Amino acid sequence: MADPGTFAEPPLSGYRQHMEIRALLRDEQSLYQHVQVLDTAPFGRMLVLDDAVQTTIADEAAYHEMLVHVPMLAHPAPRQVLIVGGGDGGTLRRVLQHPIQRVVQVEIDEAVIRLSREFLPEISAGAYDDPRADVIVGDGVAYLETQSAAFDVVLIDSTDPVGPAEGLFTTDFYQTVRRALRPGGLMASHCGSPVLMADGWLRTVSTLEGVFGIVQPYLAYVPAYPGGLWGMVAASESCSAHRPDPYRLSQLAGDLDELSYYTPDVHMASFALPATLGRRQPLFPIVAAEPSGVA
Ligand code: SAM
Repeated sequence: MADPGTFAEPPLSGYRQHMEIRALLRDEQSLYQHVQVLDTAPFGRMLVLDDAVQTTIADEAAYHEMLVHVPMLAHPAPRQVLIVGGGDGGTLRRVLQHPIQRVVQVEIDEAVIRLSREFLPEISAGAYDDPRADVIVGDGVAYLETQSAAFDVVLIDSTDPVGPAEGLFTTDFYQTVRRALRPGGLMASHCGSPVLMADGWLRTVSTLEGVFGIVQPYLAYVPAYPGGLWGMVAASESCSAHRPDPYRLSQLAGDLDELSYYTPDVHMASFALPATLGRRQPLFPIVAAEPSGVA
């Protein structure tokens, strides 16, 4: 943390986003990463891993609804789903709003699941107790290497591509995801800020373009993340994620009006890219810099 009372991610491109902290609720070094739960003034409780914001109570719905409902509603009949990462449980909860048979979640760090359930229970909202959920504590890379034509939808809800998540953004990994998909299946992943992490956004999209026939980047607004505008990407051999299937919309558990961010219009609009991103160039000419690690 920058100093008591404020939180700031390590600087990206000389840019810092500070927020006021009301309390540090938990500070733990797990086997894989530094896990913190903070109570923030603007966004309520917030999960931080290795100084990077993962999710907050206030804006988690924007990230999770867009990562999940866009690919899940584009697929005509998703039954078997895999989540890699996602220890806060927000992705699992949204997947379970669909009439699926089984969802496997492979999260490397039990501490993230445990602390999220204890301090951020609103995010998973009971999802970990659903009998359709099979939660495995392990490495998503190793798990996917054992899978073939097993899943309709694969969701990569990981940390940024450093530390344990490094292997989740490579050509080899995306080839294992492609093998793990059933015919007609699709995957979605977040791919960082197209503003402040433009190199990472471009690298993820172009790596996927080397593996899948259809690669469709899309955008969501998640204000607690640096820069606010966040990149996600869907990829498949045959299934376009551009629009929701009207029949599938009617199958979503609960009322569409109860969603916070996702609507069918937002779904379609999220694929409209600014000109530079459409040309696979950085959104703005901001000098890219890796996080310095200085908090
Ligand atoms: N919404 C977040 C974001 O945009 O950064 C992601 C949140 S979720 C908490 C990220 C999870 O990915 C972490 O709990 C981390 O432990 C997990 N993770 C990282 N590398 C992994 C791997 N190789 N296999 C499985 N889970 C992994």
